[in-house]
Amino acid sequence: MSDRVALVTGASSGIGAATALGLVELGFTVYGAARRVERMGHLAERGVRTIALDVTDERSVRDAVDRIVADTGRIDVLVNNAGYGSYGAVEDVPMDEARRQFEVNVFGAARLIQLVLPVMRSRGAGRVINVSSVGGKIYTPLGAWYHATKFALEGFSDALRLEVEPFGVDVVVIEPGGIRTEWAGIAVDNLRKVSRRGVYARQAEAVASRLSSETYTRRMSEPSVIAEVIGRAATVSRPRTRYAAGLGAKPLVLLRRLLPDRALDAIIRRALREVSGPAR
Ligand code: NAP
Repeated sequence: MSDRVALVTGASSGIGAATALGLVELGFTVYGAARRVERMGHLAERGVRTIALDVTDERSVRDAVDRIVADTGRIDVLVNNAGYGSYGAVEDVPMDEARRQFEVNVFGAARLIQLVLPVMRSRGAGRVINVSSVGGKIYTPLGAWYHATKFALEGFSDALRLEVEPFGVDVVVIEPGGIRTEWAGIAVDNLRKVSRRGVYARQAEAVASRLSSETYTRRMSEPSVIAEVIGRAATVSRPRTRYAAGLGAKPLVLLRRLLPDRALDAIIRRALREVSGPAR
């Protein structure tokens, strides 16, 4: 295993940092990539090769892949993990921000896949692991753009799986539930920035309270739970197409499969009302 090479995006925090370390433990040569290289010193100390990467910047993405190929000649596993939650009412979120949400969560991942596939195809093997979310299956109000990106990543991954199968490349989707990282804080900040005032203020506060409530935060899973699942997806001989893990992920995916939309709406509405009181 020691000569196998993995690239993990969004490695400066949360799930990406835990995944980079987990893959080192499994014997991979790991490249951990993010914009905040200074946040990855602790990973470098434990054997992760850290590189600067902004997934929205063409030059940066090319440089990162070129460097890995120049160093090692191969990329066996790509973990597309970089992402954030652009929350806010659809009426309030500026279209530039909505586009940026897609640039990071979808097009950034897609561009890396484009650049890495020729390297994988040349060896007749490789694994693309896309970190979606349980939010790629279910939904909350004021999260429309985030859910749009994760739903998109789910469909993109399914089509890609069939497309690259003949070349020995596998595509896996990871669907984390609530994980204790910087994600929720960033989503809540974005939400309050755009929808704190106006007609969506009450809904915004309900969603923000839920995402930042102590009860919810306490129950969240550690990033290592997802890192462990990604490690499995990267190493088993025949990975599943999807892995749901972390707080609430499996039951929510099951509910989505079983319930009609209106019934699921009612459950989501009730979960939000529990923290905010009845909606007006
Ligand atoms: P996090 O702690 O906020 O980490 C996000 C990572 O993405 C950071 O390392 C950040 O690094 C990177 N990133 C953001 N924008 C980037 C850009 N333009 N270019 C390169 N890297 C960028 O959040 P996390 O929870 O670990 O999130 C990881 C993934 O899991 C995301 O795709 C998220 O949607 C998904 N997820 C999280 C949860 C959860 O509850 N936490 C649940 C479901 C799915 P820099 O800022 O340094 O670039």
